[in-house]
Amino acid sequence: MPRVPGVRGRLKDIPVPGHKRVLLAAPRGYCAGVDRAVIAVEKALEHYGAPVYVRKQIVHNIHVVTELEAMGAIFVDEVDEVPEGAHIVFSAHGVSPAVVNAASDRGLHAIDATCPLVTKVHREAVRFARDDYEILLIGHEGHEEVEGTAGEAPDHVTLVGSPDEVANIEVRDPDKVVWLSQTTLSVDETMETVRRLREKFPNLADPPSDDICYATQNRQVAIKKVAQDADLVIVVGSANSSNSVRLVEVALEYGAKAAYRVDYASEVKQEWLDGVETVGVTSGASVPEELVQELLLALSDAGYGDVAEVKTAEEDLMFSLPKELRKDLAGNRDERALGGRNRPVQ
Ligand code: SF4
Repeated sequence: MPRVPGVRGRLKDIPVPGHKRVLLAAPRGYCAGVDRAVIAVEKALEHYGAPVYVRKQIVHNIHVVTELEAMGAIFVDEVDEVPEGAHIVFSAHGVSPAVVNAASDRGLHAIDATCPLVTKVHREAVRFARDDYEILLIGHEGHEEVEGTAGEAPDHVTLVGSPDEVANIEVRDPDKVVWLSQTTLSVDETMETVRRLREKFPNLADPPSDDICYATQNRQVAIKKVAQDADLVIVVGSANSSNSVRLVEVALEYGAKAAYRVDYASEVKQEWLDGVETVGVTSGASVPEELVQELLLALSDAGYGDVAEVKTAEEDLMFSLPKELRKDLAGNRDERALGGRNRPVQ
């Protein structure tokens, strides 16, 4: 950032009119659960040899899926597409017990790469169902994570897709209801849904801890800060990535004049940059950093070579590999670092 002559203080924060710059949100990109899931497939391919089957996209990013396919992974929708006795990896979004049982019945060797933070929500669903609560699960219909969580207690779960749906929710016993949520939702919208649910069911119970995960929350906090100063926000992430799509929405809510999602830098349209001084950049939790770096290069070519990082948290959370893999890899230790952690930056 160029300095303004004769002005004291935080000169680097003072934009010069007409100066093109990028504000790069941090944290962004890979979370601990995605990192673990992708490495699980890579390690499975190395250890067992190709092909290794993966139920659904291991994480919701087309680039990651394409790269793993090139290495020998085969992505399927359901376990009955997998040859008996083969290795199958369950994606980071989790699976219902019915899927686990179907894989077992087929004699598949399953490696469960469900993010531990999704597993935590599954356990909550099981526990509240056991205590005969009706579970109001806030999430998006058809999303794999929601299907997996609901599948833990199908007779006890009612899906709530948005604040507006609350008006139509009916329950058996209004004094025995709890809300849980998908891990990758908008924090603000979810709180609004909960507010309306509590208005309707004053004795609504809360989950024991946040279901929206640290990575989703951190990326939203960072883009809120960036969006306040951005004419345009570009989110790198795939269309089926819930947390990436939420970042576009949050950027618009918090002041960005425009916000778009792209899988690749080549999708950025020249007209998006017309009259734009400050471009905010971030990426969803399933996006490798190389895709962000490619976007920064393209922006630099377009005159936005000045990049300042806006960091709102440090992350160094790590998850160990799925236990099935750890067992098979025992004696063949891999020290590759995983993930990040949720530590606020002052
Ligand atoms: S976004 Fe959150 S819940 Fe999903 S894989 Fe990452 S850490 Fe886990």
